[in-house]
Amino acid sequence: MRLRSGTVVIIGGAIIGSSIAYFLREIGFSGSITVIERDPTYQKSSTALSAASIRTQFGTPVNIHMSLFGADFFRRITERFGADADIGFVERGYLILGGPETIEARRAGVDMQRREGADVAALLPNEAKARFPWLSVTDLGVATTTRRDEGWFDAWSLLSLVRRAARDRGVTYVEGHAAEVIVRGGSATGVKLADGRAIAADWVVNAAGAASAAVVRALGILLPVSARKRTVFSIKAPLDRSGFPMLFDTSGAWIRPEGEGFICGIAPAEENDADATEDFEPAHELLEEVLWPALAHRIPALEQLRVERAWAGHYEVNSLDHNGIVGPHDEIENLIFATGFSGHGVMHAPATGRGVAELIKHGQFRTIDLSPLGFGRVRSGTPLHETVIY
Ligand SMILES: Cc1cc2nc3c(=O)[nH]c(=O)nc-3n(C[C@H](O)[C@H](O)[C@H](O)COP(=O)(O)OP(=O)(O)OC[C@H]3O[C@@H](n4cnc5c(N)ncnc54)[C@H](O)[C@@H]3O)c2cc1C
Repeated sequence: MRLRSGTVVIIGGAIIGSSIAYFLREIGFSGSITVIERDPTYQKSSTALSAASIRTQFGTPVNIHMSLFGADFFRRITERFGADADIGFVERGYLILGGPETIEARRAGVDMQRREGADVAALLPNEAKARFPWLSVTDLGVATTTRRDEGWFDAWSLLSLVRRAARDRGVTYVEGHAAEVIVRGGSATGVKLADGRAIAADWVVNAAGAASAAVVRALGILLPVSARKRTVFSIKAPLDRSGFPMLFDTSGAWIRPEGEGFICGIAPAEENDADATEDFEPAHELLEEVLWPALAHRIPALEQLRVERAWAGHYEVNSLDHNGIVGPHDEIENLIFATGFSGHGVMHAPATGRGVAELIKHGQFRTIDLSPLGFGRVRSGTPLHETVIY
């Protein structure tokens, strides 16, 4: 089905939902677009609580292409949104560390990333030490970094810009809790809200992030997406921030500059990583028990640090393969998923927005082929494994 006009209803108005609405207008969709958002403050959205970083160092080509699109979008933000538009994009490479046992696989990864257009280079431990003198490299085998297309930005500013632009182009935001997708004769015909209202639709897009499985559960669709808590610690430390990258350690710990200090985090052990819907309490114990020792091992200057604050948000983890699910349901073809990004949804929001908009307007992906992320793999249980996960 192709529609130049018609009615699109998007469930979830944070960065994924708003990017889809924005790009629909950008590529000339003239029908009505309604975004249903249960919390217009976005306080608990993953978008608002994210670390808002972008990398091209992925193990899956489609993720690399989406990041390259995102980096270009962020770099040229004023061209789209005006001279005042500012998302504070710091374009600076990630530094992803690996032990000696990973050298071969990591070098193969770099070869693939370079073939796909990412500007990634592998450093020997002594080369990494020369560039980043604060780093302890004794147990390292390899470090990979880039000169462009990676870095960090302000996700709230990005969301505000995209949402305002969508509104300015006639997108309607409705406050409400989407309780159910209405399906008649094998097609989605609208969305029912918890307060009893119903909104008719020719297309329904599920961009409800960590809550997206709940939105389609009543249809018997088992979306393997759930809310996993990730805690971010904001710290001050006696460490020079200039030129400091987004560092991913072999331990899984990450740290990058933010404001006058740094932000850092680490995923909990798998056995402590159950569904965390409604749980936004920071996992303070992670800092003392796991994160700080790991960081101090890698960066001895971090023996001294002061915690300023901590917050927790939800990764929308796709437990099948840690990749986004983007595309139509295989039977209800006008029900489109844009969810499950598992910690990389802000950086991939522009590419997802553009791709889903193309799917609706043109009936196919045109800019980037996002079909590897389709729902079919969920149905068949065939993962598209992403190997570079944090
Ligand atoms: C601590 C942390 C660090 C992260 N770091 C990064 C990073 O560095 N880079 C990166 O790219 N990504 C990162 N992410 C992941 C990123 O934040 C998400 O992938 C991205 O925000 C997903 O956007 P979204 O719009 O799909 O989801 P959300 O931002 O969660 O938005 C979903 C929206 O849907 C609404 N909603 C849900 N259910 C309903 C319903 N039934 N009816 C109406 N509205 C509903 C919610 O209120 C919410 O506003 C991080 C996430 C966390 C938690």
